[in-house]
Amino acid sequence: MRVLFASSEAHPLIKTGGLADVSGSLPPAIAACGHDVRLILPAYASLREQGGWHSHGPLRLDGVRQEVHLLEGRMPDSGLPLYLIDAPEYFDRAGDPYRAPDGSDWPDNHLRFGLFSRAIAALAEGKAGLDWKPDLVHCNDWQTGLVAALLHDRPVRPASVFTIHNLAYQGLFPYSALQAIGLPDTLWHPHALEFYGQLSFIKGGLVFADRITTVSPTYAEEIRTPRFGYGLDGLLSYRADSLSGILNGIDDKAWDPGSDRYLDTPLDPRDPSAKRRCRAALCAETGLEDSSDAPPLLGFIGRLVEQKGIDLALDALERPLAEGRLRLVALGSGERRFELAMQALAHRFPGRVAVRIGYDEALAHAIEAGADAFLMPSRFEPCGLNQMYSLRYGTPPLAHRTGGLADTIVDATQDNLDAGTANGFLFDDTTAEALSEGLERLLALRTTPAWEKLIEVGSLTDFSWSRSALAYSNLYKSITCTET
Ligand code: ADP
Repeated sequence: MRVLFASSEAHPLIKTGGLADVSGSLPPAIAACGHDVRLILPAYASLREQGGWHSHGPLRLDGVRQEVHLLEGRMPDSGLPLYLIDAPEYFDRAGDPYRAPDGSDWPDNHLRFGLFSRAIAALAEGKAGLDWKPDLVHCNDWQTGLVAALLHDRPVRPASVFTIHNLAYQGLFPYSALQAIGLPDTLWHPHALEFYGQLSFIKGGLVFADRITTVSPTYAEEIRTPRFGYGLDGLLSYRADSLSGILNGIDDKAWDPGSDRYLDTPLDPRDPSAKRRCRAALCAETGLEDSSDAPPLLGFIGRLVEQKGIDLALDALERPLAEGRLRLVALGSGERRFELAMQALAHRFPGRVAVRIGYDEALAHAIEAGADAFLMPSRFEPCGLNQMYSLRYGTPPLAHRTGGLADTIVDATQDNLDAGTANGFLFDDTTAEALSEGLERLLALRTTPAWEKLIEVGSLTDFSWSRSALAYSNLYKSITCTET
């Protein structure tokens, strides 16, 4: 099948979060199942500057007239064909895909991703002057949400899949955006794009795509409840027969402890001396004290935002840190209040807590390899990647039982330990107390032989993309066999 995979970011070209990891790794894995997969991204400044793109000339779009060109090239690692939507007025800017350098959302995001969606729809309909037309278009998150809405009433159209990577981001704009983008008024309806008086990009995918997926089976259930559904739980329940969860994989070459290019020496997760070496290197780099009787080192990597449960961690870790029973290394950036609180913690416990504010790929690898355990107290986590890296790197995760964390971590209860299936620690309530209780269980198990078994079980789990890709491939075939 010919598949057009549409995303607003893809590693290694442009990345702000997990969506980029998926868009970099999943398409080549699906191609390996025998499909002709091509990617489409906006031509951001950093991509344009790379040059070497083949220009297809102007792209004619329905609705508001705009000067847009289609560029063609290849993805750097996988070599998959890549299309870029070149609209310099919208995408050739400093800052990240969604925000200005001062951290505020671009005020014209509705126009930027409205145009991106219109251009994807044009290509999907074969209006781009290419000798290639997809059988299926696979859209991801709100930035591509309008595509299925634009295509739904065409007499002949490709099949569509919409994947929710995080329902918290919906692309909501005032009514005026509908006209500014040039969308027909027929789409302004509660059964279409209207959402409590606002224009919802994500509803385009949720209402009109042939199939909806999300990135873990548990999250697919959770988003059908008021707690995680943000008002879209009714719609998602209505579409339950078309909704499924497919767990993400990880890039098992970039995240291979045996050949990780960021580590000085390979890490065999089951060899305690290798772990000690990585831990010593991590401590030396971050200024943490290290000695044979130093307490366990907990790692954290991620966006410092409410979703990630930073406040729970700050509350729960204070005491074991003060008692000298724990060390912490944290890497991330996000809300100022959490950055400041993290830095304050490092000030209070010099040598025991190291905090790095910023984005640092090398340090992320060093933390996964050198920490003894990994913390993910996320309030919700559609899939999560770091727990899978942690399991692979012999760094048992301690996490809230939600979304993909619940689907990948098997809690170290006595039953699971006896059955040889336990690989980490889960807590149920979103409270500092529940986190503390999980942490105490972790600290207690750490000094027993069961810890080695926990590491072994985690390090042997298969989180490769080929498993996910096969599930997507089967999903694609199920739609096109029955509906086109
Ligand atoms: P989300 O997409 O919600 O941010 P995920 O766990 O799905 O969370 O993906 C985040 C990805 O970005 C992971 O690969 C994580 O290691 C990485 N990451 C997040 N923050 C940082 C950081 N400050 N430095 C390096 N890598 C980071």
